[in-house]
Amino acid sequence: MPLASRPSRQASCPIKVSFEFFPPKTAEMETTLWSSIERLAPLDPQFVSVTYGAGGSTRERTHATVSRLVRETRLNPAAHLTCVAATKEEVDGVVRSYWDAGVRHVVALRGDPVGGLGTAYEPHREGYQRTCDLVAGIKAIGDFEVSVSAYPEKHPEAASLDEDIDVLKGKVDAGADRAITQFFFDNDVYFRYLDRVRARGIDIPIVPGIVPVQNFRQTANFAAKTGASIPAWLAARFEGLEEDVETRRLIAAAVAAEQVIDLVDRGVHEFHFYTMNRADLVYAICRLLGLRSEAERVAA
Ligand code: FAD
Repeated sequence: MPLASRPSRQASCPIKVSFEFFPPKTAEMETTLWSSIERLAPLDPQFVSVTYGAGGSTRERTHATVSRLVRETRLNPAAHLTCVAATKEEVDGVVRSYWDAGVRHVVALRGDPVGGLGTAYEPHREGYQRTCDLVAGIKAIGDFEVSVSAYPEKHPEAASLDEDIDVLKGKVDAGADRAITQFFFDNDVYFRYLDRVRARGIDIPIVPGIVPVQNFRQTANFAAKTGASIPAWLAARFEGLEEDVETRRLIAAAVAAEQVIDLVDRGVHEFHFYTMNRADLVYAICRLLGLRSEAERVAA
């Protein structure tokens, strides 16, 4: 059915979205981030999350961004937090400082090895050994909502998809409320994963992580490191457009729109967008999903 003649996606079952940002490094990046937040906020996301740099490198900046979201917006912020290179005491201190700042949602992660992706992961001797331990630790500190990661194409370090799903089960048993997936481009991969996760007795929402391909080469490089596959059809769509930013952007919007609309048609109503701190593509895709600002909803 052509897009224009489809019924409003909001009418049948409300679409819920969340947006992921990273903490800005420079004043210029800060301006971009806050103008993106301002643009996306009226769409009333379920939550907005702020990532935690590898090895805790953005600890202060993540905290500052999340705290400002609490102070200056009506959004519900979620702080990402990893176990890497920190004692339990240090991590617990960060969690408590979030509680004191009014934050009630943490995205709990193991984090990448200190030596970078591809090197062996060594938990800190006095730190949280596994993500499930971090989840339990956060829940013991306060009544936080806790989200965790999920990998439809398997985490690169996992010996098998079943083993990776066992790790997810451990996080759910420790109290995780929601899992957000690594990005993927083949929706069948997500649904096959969902079947296996449900068969394993996991019943929390497994929210698809959607990445609008702002820069194909960058996305392909990142995908190679994280075990996400790039279908040949996707590479073909961007082939030869290295110097043509405008067409790349139009294709990126079309690709993400096709993906989310197919997911909605197959019963998915929650989406997590990796925004890369840029609002325009995500905003357009959310409008295609039927999301509108409160003012527009009232006027309609
Ligand atoms: P888990 O789900 O706990 O484990 C994944 C796999 O890693 C397991 O199946 C197992 O094979 C292996 N593994 C886990 N624990 C151990 C262990 N102790 N020893 C040996 N192997 C082990 N990274 C950041 O640094 N900051 C972020 O803000 C961030 N946000 C993310 C958000 C989402 C939605 C996703 C999907 C990923 C994010 N990441 C982030 C990346 C994540 O930290 C890495 O993928 C990391 O390598 C695994 O962390 P995890 O919590 O996903 O691991």
